[in-house]
Amino acid sequence: MIKRLRLHVNGIVQGVGFRPFVYNLAVRLGLSGFVGNNAEGVFIEIQGKSADLEIFIDQLIHQPPPLAEISQFTQHEIPVQNKAKFFIQHSEKASLAATLISPDVALCDDCRRELLDPNNRRYRYPFINCTNCGPRYTIIRDIPYDRPKTTMAGFELCPACRSEYENPADRRFHAQPNACPVCGPQIWLESATGKMVLSQNDQALVQSVSLLLDGKILAVKGLGGFHLAVDATNNLAVVRLRQRKNREQKPLAVMVRSLQSARQICEIDESEARLLSAAQRPIVLLKKKNHIPVAEAVAPGNHRLGLMLPYTPLHVLLLEDLYRQTGTEPLLVMTSANLSEEPIVIDNEEARQRLSAIADALLLHNRDILIRADDSVLMMIGQQPLYFRRSRGYVPRPITLKSVGPSLLCVGAELKNTIALTRGGQVFLSQHIGDLENLPANQFFESSIGHLQNVLEITPQAIVYDLHPNYFSTQWALASGFEKKLGVQHHHAHMAAVMAEHDLDEPVIGIIMDGTGYGLDGTIWGGEFFHGAIGSFERVGQLQVQRIPGGKQAIREPWRIALSYLHQAFDGALPDLPFLKNHAVQPVIEMLEKDFNAPKTSSCGRLFDAVAAMAGGIGTIHYEGQAAIELMQQSAEVSRAGIFDFDIEESNGLLILRLETLFRSMARAVTDGIRFPEISARFHKTLIEMLSHTAQKIHLKTGTKKVVLSGGVFQNELLVRYLPPRLEQAGLKVFLHQQVSPNDSSIALGQAAMGLQYFEGKK
Ligand code: ZN
Ligand code: ZN
Ligand code: FE
Repeated sequence: MIKRLRLHVNGIVQGVGFRPFVYNLAVRLGLSGFVGNNAEGVFIEIQGKSADLEIFIDQLIHQPPPLAEISQFTQHEIPVQNKAKFFIQHSEKASLAATLISPDVALCDDCRRELLDPNNRRYRYPFINCTNCGPRYTIIRDIPYDRPKTTMAGFELCPACRSEYENPADRRFHAQPNACPVCGPQIWLESATGKMVLSQNDQALVQSVSLLLDGKILAVKGLGGFHLAVDATNNLAVVRLRQRKNREQKPLAVMVRSLQSARQICEIDESEARLLSAAQRPIVLLKKKNHIPVAEAVAPGNHRLGLMLPYTPLHVLLLEDLYRQTGTEPLLVMTSANLSEEPIVIDNEEARQRLSAIADALLLHNRDILIRADDSVLMMIGQQPLYFRRSRGYVPRPITLKSVGPSLLCVGAELKNTIALTRGGQVFLSQHIGDLENLPANQFFESSIGHLQNVLEITPQAIVYDLHPNYFSTQWALASGFEKKLGVQHHHAHMAAVMAEHDLDEPVIGIIMDGTGYGLDGTIWGGEFFHGAIGSFERVGQLQVQRIPGGKQAIREPWRIALSYLHQAFDGALPDLPFLKNHAVQPVIEMLEKDFNAPKTSSCGRLFDAVAAMAGGIGTIHYEGQAAIELMQQSAEVSRAGIFDFDIEESNGLLILRLETLFRSMARAVTDGIRFPEISARFHKTLIEMLSHTAQKIHLKTGTKKVVLSGGVFQNELLVRYLPPRLEQAGLKVFLHQQVSPNDSSIALGQAAMGLQYFEGKK
């Protein structure tokens, strides 16, 4: 029997080869009808025998093009028509607001094969791409996603490229960045100051490779920004890069040629292999093997190494050429090209100005990067991804929430800032913007807001911000002129972010272990137990409040924090611990005793700092979280460790995780000569016990079983590994972040969830 159906498909269905896929499928099955785009996504009318229609729908839903993602599908029957052909309708120029912009995608296997095939017309062409791969988000100026609205606008398609572009049966049908050596962008190599072009096209690659082999630092223009590249096996060269970049110890990422090559230097299980080779091509933090050729300066003292695979054709060519030259697997440091904490460089002129003091030469091209997107960074813990940075490859894919409300602008926190826009129940989290502590970062923050509003066609009706009065994002929000505003507590936003990811809106227990966040009482919070939901919460427990002598300075010098915790634990009569001999303790003790410049905090991050300094002698740090990372990495096996004494006290309905007993017990262990790895393991285990005991007490009082974990401290692998099973053992149900990071980069998501509910209720 002949039937005709009208289908509607929504999700990531634009710019991913969806319509040609539908066309080819229909033609193959001998079906008639048409496919087109409109404001609600892709619509299809399809006519044929029932059995063939069933196959069509099955393949449509279960085997869409690699980059498509169907989030909604509807069908209904309509009257049969008398037309035999299937065709693609031209785009309606009306609003495409409901369709989604694809993230940037790594070079696909087909393009890679062509890139390395001497008989292909794009052999060694660094900008080869197709409907299944290539730049997207980083080159889109405006929607609908069409070539004139991208940074490819200035490159007119040659006849060969145009015929691919116009042929529905071609892999490059409507591939907006389609290009070839005749009509597309080109590369060249410049001297560091940009005064001289050294070589062009293939010669530029050849010369780049020889510079790298010479230990030189190369600035390479990539997909979402510039990288600084240097031979990762050459310690002197890496040290030189660190000096010039003013980055002392923070680990650098390494690009390897293939998964096989990655396996030679790191332990990689199946889920890690899958993540490493995914189309997003993130940096994956992997366990280093022993005796590997990677220079110590790449990730000093770190047990893990951030690896990534090549994701642009230019990367592939560089690594393949390096391999051919040397016969050994190339290991290339590829680190974001920026000055200390400033945003990554994206523009040629900017590169000439800002990178000339760091790089020895610049490998440039003339396809503009419109939008910055740093490499994403993840780690696998068992089967679960732990995000450190969700950026290139993932942005701007939305996170879908249950609640629907007016469009919101959520401005995030201060460090690791991201912003979010909402449309219906979709939350569009921006790429990594960074720490809003310098002018370029502040400008990037503002331009990201403008750009995202533009490409997503969202006009926010209200703004949501953090309560911290000194955050740049907060001040910006308050000055923004929005009539409807909502300020939300930092750790409540952390909690709401996990809840949003798991569609939870019943009361939960929130264990939020964090660095710092502005508390409702005007003090700095960061080790909190909440009971509540997205709309409201009650603080039911906290880490004991401690003083941070010297404020920000103490965060760079954890020994000050250790001193403060011990001073309190021993009531001023300090024990004889080795680390105290290395520092000028007297002025700090005075600060504490006179209560001068020593703000109070319940931060869990500071607790880690204190233990690292006291037991491991980590006196000063060079990047955020360094002390905690070293403490964690040095740890002996937690499951076999003993525990320290601790106590949890209840006062006025608030559970306090007291730290005096813990610190006295730890200090005794240090003076008894227990080694650092064992102390670290015991500390982790004790903290896990303290957290789960407290959660159980809250459970007994409230009956609530669901526990959500968030805050920067949950980037700690040992906590993520051992706390959830411990809580489950106590009969609780645990929820962790799955699509975003536990750190402050997901505050904007929590703000969105809270804002949607708040403003929806107000309507
Ligand atoms: Zn491709
Ligand atoms: Zn061409
Ligand atoms: Fe936080």
